Parts: sequence; C-alpha cells; structure tokens
Amino acid sequence: MPGLGASSLPGSNGDRPLCVATTGIVTDLVAQVAGGECRVHALMGPGVDPHLYRPSPGDVAHLSAAAVVFYNGLHLEGKMAQLLRRLGRHRPVVSLGEHLRRRCPERLIPVGEGEYDPHIWFDVELWSRTLPAVERALVKLIPEQAQALRRRASSTSRRLRQLDRWCREQLARIPPRGRVLVTAHDAFRYFGRAYGIQVVGIQGVSTESEAGIADINRLVRMIVGRRIKAIFVESSVPERHVHAILDGCRAAGHPVRLGGQLYSDALGPPGSGADTYEQMVRHNVRTIVQALS
Ligand SMILES: [Zn+2]
Repeated sequence: MPGLGASSLPGSNGDRPLCVATTGIVTDLVAQVAGGECRVHALMGPGVDPHLYRPSPGDVAHLSAAAVVFYNGLHLEGKMAQLLRRLGRHRPVVSLGEHLRRRCPERLIPVGEGEYDPHIWFDVELWSRTLPAVERALVKLIPEQAQALRRRASSTSRRLRQLDRWCREQLARIPPRGRVLVTAHDAFRYFGRAYGIQVVGIQGVSTESEAGIADINRLVRMIVGRRIKAIFVESSVPERHVHAILDGCRAAGHPVRLGGQLYSDALGPPGSGADTYEQMVRHNVRTIVQALS
C-alpha cells in the first residue's frame, strides 16, 4: 500500500507529479489509484479535525506546487474554501463530494438549504463511487499511465465493495433492537443509513438547562428501553454529561458501558490499526459489533 504523506517537499523529485489531498481518508484513496506514479501528500495528519483545519504556510507551499489537488468537499474543509477556490484558477482542484452531488445527488444526506452532510466515506459503497473522479484527474495528469491507473481504480473499487459487504455481514450480527449507535460524533449518518444502524447524537446536550436534563433523561429511557449495551463518546462530550447518562442507566437497573474509540474524520496514527481507510472502517465496525452484540 502506498505510504501516506510520505512525499518530499515541493520542488524536489520533480520527475513524478505532486498530488496534494486534504484528509488522510482522501489521501488514501488517491494513493491507491496513483500507485507509485505520483507523489501523494496529505495536508492533515492523524487526529486532525478537517472542519476546523487552517492551512499552514507549509501547506500553502505544497498546494502551490501541486499538479492536482483533491479534497472531500461539501464544506468538510470549511476553513479552506477560499484557498481551494483560488487554487482552482491555476490547476485542477477535485472535490469528491461535488462529484457525487453531480452523479448521484439522491445518495447525499441533506442538512439544510442546498447543503449536504460531508461525511460520505462512512458509506463504503458510496465512497467507491468517487473513484471515477480520482481516475479521471490522474489520467489527465499522466495519460501515458492511463492503463495502469484504470487498472488500479477498478481493483480499488472491487476491494471497497468487498469491504462494504464485510461491514454488512459483521453489523448484521448485532441483535436488531440493539442496532443503535449513541455517539458524540455527528459523523455517522451515512454509516447508519448504509448499514441499518440508528444513530443518536449526544452533541449539544447540556446539563445546565432544563431542556438538557430532559434530553439526557430521554436518552437514558431509550438506552434502558432498548437494552442498548454501550455508548460511544469521546473527549468532546463533557465528562459530567457522560456520567449523567451512565448514572441514569445504572439507576434504572440497566448498566451501560462505554464502547471503544471510533475514528471519524481522521485516520489513526501509524501503528494504531486504523492508519488506512480500510483499517479505520474495519476498526470501527469491529468495535461497534463487539460493544453492541
Ligand atoms: Zn465531521
């Protein structure tokens, strides 16, 4: 598997064109198709939140030297919109989300007036549909390698479809009434829709207000009523909210535990077992199945 973010600085190694991608997830996809034909550089490392990411001067240097830029789009890289637009005047800048919006808008989840949930990689089959956009841009960049690029795009597509089937098989092992993902992320809507898991977000719940307490009580009743075994929270949820939920469930005679860590908008660090897209998906699915079965 091609390494991520391992490219040298712009300007060196000039024989192979430089592709720059935003998130680790986008970078992985581009690297699968590019093979060794391009240098593929990731702007965002493990654990970086793309919603809040602001490009560093080093990133701007890489972007300016890039022959082509790939990004997720649909406002995922919210703070980079202006820069990406400017870069697009001088080189191809490819939005994978925009590709889906043109090709299969019915598969996108609307979140407002003309806006869509950007977390498209959590439906593995949908993510595989972005491959033609990557393939087309790379073939244009190095037409002499068209055959090899097309071959790698189809084998990546095959692998992603296999991964999609594996997700379905694994998640089907969770008893139907337990197929509820209570999570702090707002990232799992595509995942839930693709694999038949109800997603309940606990972001924005506040114990400060009456409404917040009512929300937590409602959540506790739902967890207890459906005998849900685990919830998935991370550091972004204040500890007292997590404790309020755990205490509430225990008091109702249904102790619930914390599920393991899920990766959402960034890959894991090297050696985490989630440092490629495929590994990240497998890690999440295994963690969810283990906690909810
Ligand atoms: Zn996100």
